[in-house]
Amino acid sequence: MEGREKTVRVTRSSMPPFEEYTEMIKVLWDSHWLTNMGDLHNRLEESLKGYLKVPRLSLFVNGHIALEAALGAFGQTGEVITTPFTFASTAHAVVRSGSVPVFCDIRPDDYTMDPDKLEALITPRTWAVVPVHVYGNLCQVERIEEIARAHGLKVIYDAAHAFGETLDGKGVASFGDASMFSFHATKVFNTIEGGAVAYKDPALSHRIEGLKNFGIMDEENVVLVGGNGKMNEFQAAMGLCNLRHVEQEIGKREKIAARYRTRLSEAEGIHLCPEADNVKHNYAYMPVVFRGFKKDREQVFRELTEQDIHPRKYFYPCVNAYQCYQGQYDPEETPIARQISMEVLTLPMYADLPLETVDEICDIILR
Ligand SMILES: *Cc1c(COP(=O)(O)O)cnc(C)c1O
Repeated sequence: MEGREKTVRVTRSSMPPFEEYTEMIKVLWDSHWLTNMGDLHNRLEESLKGYLKVPRLSLFVNGHIALEAALGAFGQTGEVITTPFTFASTAHAVVRSGSVPVFCDIRPDDYTMDPDKLEALITPRTWAVVPVHVYGNLCQVERIEEIARAHGLKVIYDAAHAFGETLDGKGVASFGDASMFSFHATKVFNTIEGGAVAYKDPALSHRIEGLKNFGIMDEENVVLVGGNGKMNEFQAAMGLCNLRHVEQEIGKREKIAARYRTRLSEAEGIHLCPEADNVKHNYAYMPVVFRGFKKDREQVFRELTEQDIHPRKYFYPCVNAYQCYQGQYDPEETPIARQISMEVLTLPMYADLPLETVDEICDIILR
């Protein structure tokens, strides 16, 4: 094999042309206003409301703190039903905002929360559901919300993977009471680190803004025990630049995803997520499940790593098997999540990944 000299990582952060960024941050040397809801912060907030098609959105220093604030905004604690097939942040945010996670198993085809298993987990202490649009696969929003409504539960989506996606033309954050987005360097759209909460009820804005800035209302009034979750101007500048290119980047990702699908979908024992016609996808990740394939996940992982290609075992282990939750949960109670976590690999996926490298990866997997 010729051509590739470099390590291939699972992702590579999108960056605007250097001059575009320096042009954007020049004004900061005039204003000396670096954080605390500056001009670039406010411009990005407005732009994202438009791009994500949401009425209310609040920027944060990162997605995790945004999720903690989204949960905290409702002022309730108790049990929160989420899934164990996600990044550590989801369940940790539930715990750190004062509630107890309860784990619902996932669907075997798209790995999102299984609504058929949700209702049985609801107790008098349950106050919210936190489903995850994992890999950008949209949850069964209607069924989940129907169940939540019947039991008076809030629905707060972890939409960290679902930036810019739409379902039947509607922005993904138009579902549920609130959605959290992550703008971490590894996500489809980044502000270096960053995140946002999109939400419906205008009455929440007081608490969301308060949790983001120490509960400071004005110079003399501190009204709640908030933390510090503010996005700074350098992050916002990166966001404003990256937002100009994000559609084009998603277009490139689409071509890469299509190439992987063409190469891998026919192979016996390789399972890819279904693509829904009514979803505008962002191609954030390329998850592949190896079940009944001639090699198991560990062997594929090893063979790629030996060639300096680095997929990730996202998400292994399941959250309910983490050391920090030991003794509190039995991973056997979410058997689908447990099984998928042992069979899945996310393959390299980023806008500038050459198609020749995709072919090389597929050759190694299939040979
Ligand atoms: C990235 C991510 C988060 C947290 O976002 P940060 O911006 O890294 O704090 C939360 N949930 C999921 C599923 C994620 O992938």
